[in-house]
Formats: sequence, C-alpha cells, structure tokens
Amino acid sequence: MVIDRVRLYPYSIGRISPFRIATMTSYSVDGVFVAIDAGDLTGWGEALPFHSINGETQGTCIEALKFLGQFLIGREFLAVGSLVTALKGLLPTMTTAAGAIDVALHDMVGQKLGVPIYQLFGGTNRELPTDLTIGIVEPEAAGVRAGEIVAEGFRRIKVKLGDGVENDVARVSAVREGASEALIRVDANQAYDRETALVVLNEIAEFGVEFCEQPVRRKDWAGLKWLHEHAGVAVMADESCFDAEDAFGLISGGCCSLVNIKLCKSSGLIGGREIAAVVRNGHGRCMVGGMAETRLGVTASAHLGCSDSAIEFFDLDAHTGHTEDVIEGGLEIVGGRFGSGMSRGLGRGRRRSFWRGFR
Ligand SMILES: [Mg+2]
Repeated sequence: MVIDRVRLYPYSIGRISPFRIATMTSYSVDGVFVAIDAGDLTGWGEALPFHSINGETQGTCIEALKFLGQFLIGREFLAVGSLVTALKGLLPTMTTAAGAIDVALHDMVGQKLGVPIYQLFGGTNRELPTDLTIGIVEPEAAGVRAGEIVAEGFRRIKVKLGDGVENDVARVSAVREGASEALIRVDANQAYDRETALVVLNEIAEFGVEFCEQPVRRKDWAGLKWLHEHAGVAVMADESCFDAEDAFGLISGGCCSLVNIKLCKSSGLIGGREIAAVVRNGHGRCMVGGMAETRLGVTASAHLGCSDSAIEFFDLDAHTGHTEDVIEGGLEIVGGRFGSGMSRGLGRGRRRSFWRGFR
C-alpha cells in the first residue's frame, strides 16, 4: 500500500508545574503529531524535541517532517525498514523527526497485519513498572512528593540532580526518608565534571541508588568510564548514546554497562532496537525513557520496551506532568505500571483518531 498523505499537527501543552533539570527549566511541552495516510489506514507518531539534549525544536521538526513527508509520498509503507534507513540518510541529525515517522510507519504496519507493534519484533506483552520523576526542587518538597508517589502505587522514583553537591545529596536523602521502600534512581543530565560527580555519587550511595544517568557531559566518555570504574553508584549513558554506533563505543570501551534508549534520540523503533541488541551482546542492560511526550509517544516507547529482553528499566512518565491528556486510546499508568492490553498498532483499538483535536 502506498502512502498518499502526511499530515502534521503542532501542539503546545502546559505543564502542571515548571520542570527543572540541570540544563533547563521547561514550562510547556511543544511537539508535533504526524499522521501518515495510506488508503483507509492512518499511522500516528510524535516528535517531541528537547533542545538542550539534541538541538531540535518544534520549528525544526516541522520543517524536517515536511521534507521527509515529501519523500514518503507515493512509497510503499510496508517497506518500513528501508524507508527509515533512507530518512536517516536524508537528515541524519534530525533524530526526533525521523523517530516520529518511524513510529507512524510501524503503527500502520501493525494495523495492516492486525498485531500490536511489539509483536512485529517478536516481543512479549508485559506490564512495565515505571518510575515517576522528581525534578530539581528543594529537598523538603522532594521528600513530600516521594511520599505521594509511593501512595499512588509507584515503587520507583527518579530524582533529578544538578543543583550542587550539597543540595543534590540533601534531595536524595529526603526522597529516601519520604519513601523508605522505593527504588531510587537519579539523573544528572550532564551536570558535573567527573571529580564532582564522584563526590555526589559516593555520598548518595548510602541511600541505595540503582544507577545515575549521565553524570558528565555527553562527549566526556572518558569521564563516564572513570566513574564506571570508581563510583559507588552505577552509571547509565543517556545523552551520550543516540544510536547503535554510540552504544558499541560505550559498551566495548568499558564506559558503562547501562544505556537509556529514547525514540527521539534513536530515530525510532528500529534504531532503538539496534541499540538494545548491541547492549545485550555486551552483557549490558537498557532503560527505555522519553523526553516529555504525550501518551502517544510513551505508548510507542512501551512497545519498544516489550520488544527486547535487554530493556529492563522503564521511565515512562513523560506525560504525567501535562495539564491535559489530548490522546484518545493508547496505554495508561495503573498502579505504577504502564499498560497491558496493547491491541493493534499502537494499541488504540478501533478508535479512529489518536488526537481528539481532529476529526
Ligand atoms: Mg536522562
């Protein structure tokens, strides 16, 4: 079946409260939904650019999606692998835009074959235990929020770092006090040099921390390797790893054994699975996470999470801070776990439109 139309729907959604991480404070979520039509089939994807991580914006994603959309018109969508390879060749650095199209194409194939996306890859349906994230806030507020998160049924809490050694250690300490049984993971979003990161990680180790995402700048692979060898908390590559080539360098170079996959970095599901394969072959483990996507993008990430056994950690809370849920169908968090019951395609059953704003 041939693609006959590509539609773009830019959106802006508020955040319930400002979300502060080491590199920026975010007040709204500005992305683009992409709908690809072939006959009576429509596949949906989502581009959620995060400028401080990969340099893309809503504006650059719109232009990239227009350009890539023109390439798709008239082409057979079942050849999804070769289409995605071609898209990555056309705009190699626009990984968020390419990822949205990759997901929409897989959504179409899933619908056409009558199976959920994870089954296209031989995956297994399972409920994915996700964390909820606490941004950079005062320690006292973090402790209170940790108690609320546990009361909501979550057993995993992610804490953002990057506000100086003293405040960071105090925030993690308060979270541990507020949630004594929870698993705690932290994310420094490139905040530190290696020596300062070592101090922070060794001080928070006593609170029982699973791992720390991206303690150092994304190109500081030597620093990551040094921390992997010396720190009291395991390190995970996030901003350092966009694709399988990065993953191979990081894993084979002994820089880490943990990698965070995001569809907006990996140019979609195919690229995400390539990373997982490299990490699995290197005896490492993966997390699947996101930027700030709506439930559409998070649902796609959950399908990726069900598709490979190397993906053991789940950070599928991107949509939870939004002031409104514009998605119809898809998956939801129930009792700290992100959705079972995935049906065809992205899991939207027989409903016609993912986004209530249209049709
Ligand atoms: Mg991260």
